[in-house]
Amino acid sequence: MTQKSFVVMAKPVGSRCNMHCDYCYYLEKGQYSEHERQTRMSYDLLETLIKETIGAAEGPVVSFVWHGGEPTIAGLDFYKKVVELERKYLPAGWQVWNNLQTNGFMMNDLWCKFLKENHFDVGVSFDGSAKVHDQNRHDLKGGATQERILRSIQRLRSFGIEPDILCTVNSKSCEDPLDVYRAIKATGCGWCQFIPIVVRMPDGTFSKESVSPEGYGKFLITIFDEWVRNDLGRIDVQLFAETARIMAGGEASLCWMAETCGRALIAEEDGAIYSCDHFVDDDHRLGMLQQKDLGEMADCDFQIAFGEAKRTALTKECQRCPFLKFCNGGCLKDRFGKSNTGEEGQYYLCPGLKAFFAHAQPVLEQVMKMSREGKTQAEIMASL
Ligand code: SF4
Ligand code: SF4
Repeated sequence: MTQKSFVVMAKPVGSRCNMHCDYCYYLEKGQYSEHERQTRMSYDLLETLIKETIGAAEGPVVSFVWHGGEPTIAGLDFYKKVVELERKYLPAGWQVWNNLQTNGFMMNDLWCKFLKENHFDVGVSFDGSAKVHDQNRHDLKGGATQERILRSIQRLRSFGIEPDILCTVNSKSCEDPLDVYRAIKATGCGWCQFIPIVVRMPDGTFSKESVSPEGYGKFLITIFDEWVRNDLGRIDVQLFAETARIMAGGEASLCWMAETCGRALIAEEDGAIYSCDHFVDDDHRLGMLQQKDLGEMADCDFQIAFGEAKRTALTKECQRCPFLKFCNGGCLKDRFGKSNTGEEGQYYLCPGLKAFFAHAQPVLEQVMKMSREGKTQAEIMASL
């Protein structure tokens, strides 16, 4: 058993994908050229991964996230094997939680049936209206995909699966945040998460799809205002829920908001294990699954120091910040800004986050107070 629980984000086909999105971070790493060479994780490796993940887990719930690239490229038989191996190694009384993060491109009835029967949670990447989604999310020929993904979301729902919507915040979506939000709402899904696109080029500039700190703040605030007045209890927005949870004395469950990180390891299709999906590089390769124990890699000094850096490398601005408890200095990947005292290592999106927390905190306080007083959500929304 490891010192602290961890989750494995497995990439059965590495970064291979059946779409080509402009802001994909494998572009940033120049890994698109590697796609052709990547194969699928072998069943032997898959068995080692599942056996060692379960062996290192505290239980009674063991989590697996199937990620990419596009994980459905591995094929349905691969996931049938996943389920078979999980059953083989899961101790009596334990449960497994599988989460498939997909672009939805290949979501047909066979997939939906399998995912439903085997209780997979599904996250679908969807950027909202066609105007925004089709700006960046293309098929391999450069064609639009929004309509097709929307059909996949509806197909999943028709099988009784409520997918989570993973929506990026990029330069295009910032132009009309409400258009994005209302398109997500129109899917009928009850949960969404916003993922900022920050792609820093080797010369220090940003890709044209990247969101600015100010744009990020404006996006969050605009959607928060719409949500809190109209959709309390109807749709959960991950960042808003996490902020409220922390205000109520709970702990962040998102790595970029938590005090430390480094407990979401990446397993590539060739068995290489990395510190984090944003650090799939030679410096952060913890070892090979074929040679080293997964639990030992999760707990090795390097990985512990990687996760601790989130706390130990805070700038003075962060240390003194009233919102530190909410974001804990933000994601390590994007700590290349300058603090208000000129210190290096400030979270790039900090100004946007500060604006959001300053705006949302008093409103959420009011919501929580009224809720404690027994007001209904309709009454709370009306009062706002
Ligand atoms: S570097 Fe960022 S994405 Fe990776 S584990 Fe830390 S906070 Fe999470
Ligand atoms: S809001 Fe900015 S200054 Fe405050 S803790 Fe987060 S990153 Fe640091």
